[in-house]
Amino acid sequence: MAEEAKFKCLRCGHGFTAPYTPKVAEERACPKCDSNSVRRLKEKKDS
Ligand SMILES: [Zn+2]
Repeated sequence: MAEEAKFKCLRCGHGFTAPYTPKVAEERACPKCDSNSVRRLKEKKDS
């Protein structure tokens, strides 16, 4: 089961959530501007 991780594009600032598998180092591309300058954000779970 894949985790959901938050990503943010460093180019256009678009934030999005995508499935993330820790074992697989896959490159992410921004769905908005197609840049691969995407940074994964640490997930904060507020309960
Ligand atoms: Zn972007």
